[in-house]
Amino acid sequence: MCGIVGYVGERDCTDVLLDSLSKLEYRGYDSAGIAVFENGEITVEKAKGELKNLREKVAEHKPKGHCGIGHTRWATHGEPSDINSHPHGNKRVSIVHNGIIENYKDIKNFLIEKGYTFISETDTETVAKLLDYYYEGDPVDAIIKTLKDVRGAYALGIVFKDFPDRIFAVRKDSPLIIGAGDEENFIASDVPAILKYTRNYYLLEENEIATIKSDRVEFCDMHKLPIKKEVQVSNLDMDAAEKGGYEHFMLKEINEQPTAVKTTITPRITDSMPDFSAEGFDAAKLSSYNKIYIVACGTAMHAGMVGKYVIEKLARIPVIVDIASEFRYRDPLIDKGDLVILISQSGETADTKAALELAKLNGADTLAIVNVKGSSIARAADMVVYTHAGPEISVASTKAYMVQISVMYLLAFELAYGTGRISKEQCEKFTKELQNIPSVPQRRNAPARIRPTRPPRSR
Ligand code: GLU
Repeated sequence: MCGIVGYVGERDCTDVLLDSLSKLEYRGYDSAGIAVFENGEITVEKAKGELKNLREKVAEHKPKGHCGIGHTRWATHGEPSDINSHPHGNKRVSIVHNGIIENYKDIKNFLIEKGYTFISETDTETVAKLLDYYYEGDPVDAIIKTLKDVRGAYALGIVFKDFPDRIFAVRKDSPLIIGAGDEENFIASDVPAILKYTRNYYLLEENEIATIKSDRVEFCDMHKLPIKKEVQVSNLDMDAAEKGGYEHFMLKEINEQPTAVKTTITPRITDSMPDFSAEGFDAAKLSSYNKIYIVACGTAMHAGMVGKYVIEKLARIPVIVDIASEFRYRDPLIDKGDLVILISQSGETADTKAALELAKLNGADTLAIVNVKGSSIARAADMVVYTHAGPEISVASTKAYMVQISVMYLLAFELAYGTGRISKEQCEKFTKELQNIPSVPQRRNAPARIRPTRPPRSR
């Protein structure tokens, strides 16, 4: 997962881009780059490897300007290298891209016939050059024409030389938010990138085009009709997105588990009984389904497996756990009367979202368990249970997994009570035990910090 950032405003653009990119490093990357308007020209700097390599390059020649885009790349098409790093484009247009363009070869062949040349192996460069091909003075027209030709997943930050005071942004199946500051605006793959500057942001939906200037952000649809949007306010704690004195994020997040579990389950318990009324369902509704699918990827899928064991054991309802990346290809027997539970920390997992769409298409009810408010999966599902883990930066999941299984347990209690498999007293007892977990003292002799095990000495 790469990171996209963009800035337009009074500050030194290069500084803001580098700072914001550093807040997205947790997503993983293999190279980085920026494009900044400098005296009306698009100046590009990029470097393979860590962000510090880009910083070193920029220290030699710092692009000075007030509008630009930046990127940390996780290579999918072409090896990590200076040339394959984003931004891509030419003197007229420059773009950063998160995702995969499925039909990039066709686009490339078409453009080669039209006389374009390519310097990188990326799919992204084909989109940049297609934008250039369609550009006749109106960037939004060029974007609309380009998107009609493009198949795949993308979040794009785009700048056109003729418009040095603005950034354009679009997305499909990859996350992107628009940060709304005071006389300055941003784009970013995730909220931590903009938190230092503003808490306000807009959610960009699919097939919407954002034009971002320092004093305003405008949205339109694919017919250029204007769209009005509400500003969202992030309640993300700045410290929560930083290491807060811990040696590394994973250690911090392990230590945050009791609080995360408590904050997640407390609002869903009333008088020692599960209570999902705020989420719009109760024991009777939950237990009315014929069968339950739990669909997720990676760690979230393992939380789903725990959910299966506990639901089947307590409620005796069949549960099928699927890896989201296979779900839509295996033609699952989803029916009206089934419940499909989708679990995703970010709420943006593309395969899980595709599974959700398939479930809806087949008439099943969908219930999302996600950590990020307003994320794509949360918005698309019929019911949502938000976990309150806070940002999880470490790639190895700890607290997000823990809150997901806490929700699975609570759902299982509600289900088992709804099907009459457990009595009210048993349900209260189980729920109280779950409630007690965050306050169970840590083992006294538990190591204060996790140390890597030493390899045995060779003799
Ligand atoms: N597919 C693009 C590339 O390989 C973007 C990858 C990413 O999301 O970082 O350059």
